[in-house]
Amino acid sequence: MLKVLKFGGTSVGDLEKIQNVANIIKKEKDKNYDLVVVVSAMSGVTNKLSSYAKHFSKDSSSKEVDMLLSAGERISSSLLALALNEQGYASISMSGREAGILTDCHYTRAKIQSIDTKNISKALKSGQIIIVAGFQGYTKEGRVSTLGRGGSDLSAVALAGALNASICEIYTDVDGIYTSDPRIEPRARKLEKISYEEMLELSSLGAKVLQTRSVEMAKKFDVNIISRSSFAPEIEGTLITKEGNIMEKALVSGIALDKNQVRIGLYGVSDKPGIAALIFSDLAKSQVNVDMIVQTVAVNGKTSLDFTVPIEDLEKTQNIMLRFKKDIQKVDYNEKICKLSVVGLGMKTNSGVASKAFETLAKENINIRIISTSEIKISMIIEEKYAELGVRALHEAYHLDKTCKSF
Ligand code: ASP
Ligand code: MG
Repeated sequence: MLKVLKFGGTSVGDLEKIQNVANIIKKEKDKNYDLVVVVSAMSGVTNKLSSYAKHFSKDSSSKEVDMLLSAGERISSSLLALALNEQGYASISMSGREAGILTDCHYTRAKIQSIDTKNISKALKSGQIIIVAGFQGYTKEGRVSTLGRGGSDLSAVALAGALNASICEIYTDVDGIYTSDPRIEPRARKLEKISYEEMLELSSLGAKVLQTRSVEMAKKFDVNIISRSSFAPEIEGTLITKEGNIMEKALVSGIALDKNQVRIGLYGVSDKPGIAALIFSDLAKSQVNVDMIVQTVAVNGKTSLDFTVPIEDLEKTQNIMLRFKKDIQKVDYNEKICKLSVVGLGMKTNSGVASKAFETLAKENINIRIISTSEIKISMIIEEKYAELGVRALHEAYHLDKTCKSF
């Protein structure tokens, strides 16, 4: 049986930790699994390389940047292969190209187009453990490309899909997916299973255990993921799987907190057709990730619009807003906000989940600025200083510290 194992940057953070990873791999090999291992760069390396590039050039999307960034994963993959070979476990490291990962030509944020598993299959047949440098592929131009930050998760899931692996185990420094951040709510509980849909909401909402794109891909290709810790490999992690594999659907599975948002208020916006379309299509063209949008009813031909974007898109957003000077009287930017979200499959079929959230925050005197909902999520923008209080209050309200969740 074939397993794909993926180790994140902290798991291969220094030579001792690489040896720890080698030990985990050896144990799995001793259980007779065929193994394809994907590694991230040693922690901090990608950031460092990226800062070196910035020293010389503002162009952060060039082919040269990809050549540079891909080196991080090559270092960790080859070191791991050296260690395993030395310790009697035949291994071979592969770059993204050797692993057959073909991408499009959007350098630094390439999308995987196809995977030719020829080299990997051949090496597996000869009994070798394959150590793939994550986060990278090659383009039809023949150059190295990288998949965007956190892209090693994507490499792992894509390989698991292409190779029809029985499981994709993603090792990080946390031992699974929790009902909320245990640093904020010590009573947070580790989930045994969670659906792709819930995981997607949680990861895009700031519970950054897995890269969002990798979960989307897992859902598309039906790849079961286990999120677990390389520092406590004996602890079973959380299975991320399709809804159909989850017998008892939790009303609420988790509370996510995202402090990385800015609220943008546009006041005195001309109330004529097409303005919102223009503003948001300009933002989209510049790849600004707009999240929650609220428009109020127009008064005297003027309306106001509120929306949120991630902090890293703030500068781009400010520049775009300048283009609409004529149609907007006032713009304000508020960074001191955060987004609290309640996520759970059971919301599809149960009422009262949303009102519970509003009541809970009201009881704590927390004012909600923007609300948005989807089938399995309620998100609320509140003042940042209430972030932790809000998480704890909601965690308590839905009894998330207990396995049986009626409220
Ligand atoms: N090394 C890359 C990053 O730091 C990719 C990854 O770790 O998944 O973003
Ligand atoms: Mg990662």
